[in-house]
Amino acid sequence: MEFVHEGLALSVDLLILGLCVREYVSYKKNVNLLRKAPQLPLDNDLKRYVGKQKDQKVPYAVIRGTVTPIGVPMRSVMSPSVTGVLQVIKLSEHRIARGFAGFWTEQRKLIHVSSNEMPFELRSNEAGVEIIDALSAAVLDLDIVYDNYEPSSLSFFDHVFGFFSGVRQKGLQTTEEVLRDGSFITAVGELEMDGKVLRLQPSPLGPLFLTTATKSTLIKKFEEAKSSMLFKIFVCGAISAVLISVIGRKLYVKKKQERDDRRIREALEKERKKRRARSRPQDLTRDQLCVVCTTNPKEVIILPCGHVCMCEDCSEKIKQTCPVCRGPINTRSAAFIS
Ligand SMILES: [Zn+2]
Ligand SMILES: [Zn+2]
Repeated sequence: MEFVHEGLALSVDLLILGLCVREYVSYKKNVNLLRKAPQLPLDNDLKRYVGKQKDQKVPYAVIRGTVTPIGVPMRSVMSPSVTGVLQVIKLSEHRIARGFAGFWTEQRKLIHVSSNEMPFELRSNEAGVEIIDALSAAVLDLDIVYDNYEPSSLSFFDHVFGFFSGVRQKGLQTTEEVLRDGSFITAVGELEMDGKVLRLQPSPLGPLFLTTATKSTLIKKFEEAKSSMLFKIFVCGAISAVLISVIGRKLYVKKKQERDDRRIREALEKERKKRRARSRPQDLTRDQLCVVCTTNPKEVIILPCGHVCMCEDCSEKIKQTCPVCRGPINTRSAAFIS
């Protein structure tokens, strides 16, 4: 129980380390995948190129084009002058909450998300690729077209309640994000020829990206995230190493203490036996000798049977049954025969 604090800190640190390593691996995988993914021009030859591939699929490809709705584009709910193909409306609550140390900190909690999507494609003058399942994209760059913060008006009772519950609402924020039609973006995913139509969808190899960044910028961003994650791994690793050495040292000190204690106890015991051996009478008859070792005199009485049959040394080894009558040994006591 002495290592509870260190053990707890170590397990939290290892957990964070594990999460960091997982993130790092996923960034690294993304960088490698993106480096290998071919950037295909959106032109007349694209269909022929994809058609010639195995299963008429390019497992992970990069294309760039203009967002073009298939049908009538959606109108933004909050700012109707804007049209787009994807729409995400978020309602979040701003509040201040009392933290561990008793300080009030500001928090933002997402209360509700609603999203809409409609079929769309990335187009150039010559060709188009339909984007499937766009809302599942790992990177999805949307424009914020509406952002409104409404402070709450709190009554006296709300303040009193907030003081006791530790949470006080400050206001509500509504945002609307839209992927506008006509914006020029980069899409990364599995490119598949489905009948006569080209589609880009989430790939089994890696996540879907829909971003305003170019392929090289995207790679650079992941590289940067990867390096910063590596730094965090080093920091967490160093903390773990320190904690492990602290625990190791404490264990070593504890073991050493136990060993020293045992050694002292054994030395004392040895000394005691020697002293006793010296004080034993030398000329004993057979009846007076311990029935087990037949060397030392009988020194111990066994209860409840009452036999006086063993020396002190033997009585330390035989603890279950009396060697004379096989009765159970409940207690032993020094016997003085005068
Ligand atoms: Zn004995
Ligand atoms: Zn007995």
